[in-house]
Amino acid sequence: MSTQPIVGLHHVTAIASDPQVNLDFYTGVLGLRFVKRTVNFDDPGTYHFYFGDDAGSPGTILTFFPWPRAGWGQAGAGEVTHTAFSVPLTSMAYWEQRLAAKGILFERSGKRFAEEVLTLPDPDGMKVEIVGHADAGAVKAPRFANVPAEHAIRGFFGVTMLQLEAEETAKILAVMGFHKIAEEGRRLRFAAEGNALGNAIDIVVDPHASYGRSGAGTVHHIAFRAANDAAQLEWREEIGKHIPTTAVLDRDYFHSIYFREPGGVLFELATDNPGFAIDEPVESLGEELCVPDWLEARRPELEQRLVPITLHKAEVTA
Ligand code: ZN
Repeated sequence: MSTQPIVGLHHVTAIASDPQVNLDFYTGVLGLRFVKRTVNFDDPGTYHFYFGDDAGSPGTILTFFPWPRAGWGQAGAGEVTHTAFSVPLTSMAYWEQRLAAKGILFERSGKRFAEEVLTLPDPDGMKVEIVGHADAGAVKAPRFANVPAEHAIRGFFGVTMLQLEAEETAKILAVMGFHKIAEEGRRLRFAAEGNALGNAIDIVVDPHASYGRSGAGTVHHIAFRAANDAAQLEWREEIGKHIPTTAVLDRDYFHSIYFREPGGVLFELATDNPGFAIDEPVESLGEELCVPDWLEARRPELEQRLVPITLHKAEVTA
């Protein structure tokens, strides 16, 4: 086993439909920073958006493939059904008022384990949770957001997967250092040592659930954090004893391996390095289209094909 543990989530990647609507919701409503405007490396005529804290820190990154013509997905068994963000417990009243003022329908789910939970749909119907808890960490508040720093989203709290049964998934989570720490009804919570962002990996078990269907409003995969390239290779060997993994792929902002856990969710292990400041300064993250070197020659053609978007910087600062 690697001497450097996997600590929580690195990023969550989901599918959206309209790029502008997606951008406006995650920056204007949830107050995240638009960290990177790039293209889908496998389909460069479409965007890949990254949202996060001010620096785009691992553990805060929600990414989207906005496909304007995407069909609607359906969350179901073998999928991540809810993506949860961390805020201080004392910020829950602020978030309730903010969501209500913006006309967002949300549900206050009451206590789940030790936390308070607000559940709301994003514009494509993806279920987002705002989780208030006493031990929320420090914040790198996004510089252009109009959420007061003390209430800003810290990053991920965790995710919820829906599974027909939990046993096989639990085995792989255990290999990765995530063990069951709590159980409440049909919900099992797995976590690694420590208090990293995105450390709560929940499984809701429903043997009668229908399978989901990929499309707009569904999560494509979740990525866990490897400290560096050496740790990733050690984990690749360890995980590879149980299920097949891909080779290491260069995703420009991190290096990744992928493997599908037995319940059907696509897992990734992504390195903290090199990060989002590799191709533009932290001050202006997300303002220009960034493309990898091997696509630079096609930039004019790609810019023509991509739907224009507007970053409402002035508006959200006001
Ligand atoms: Zn990923």
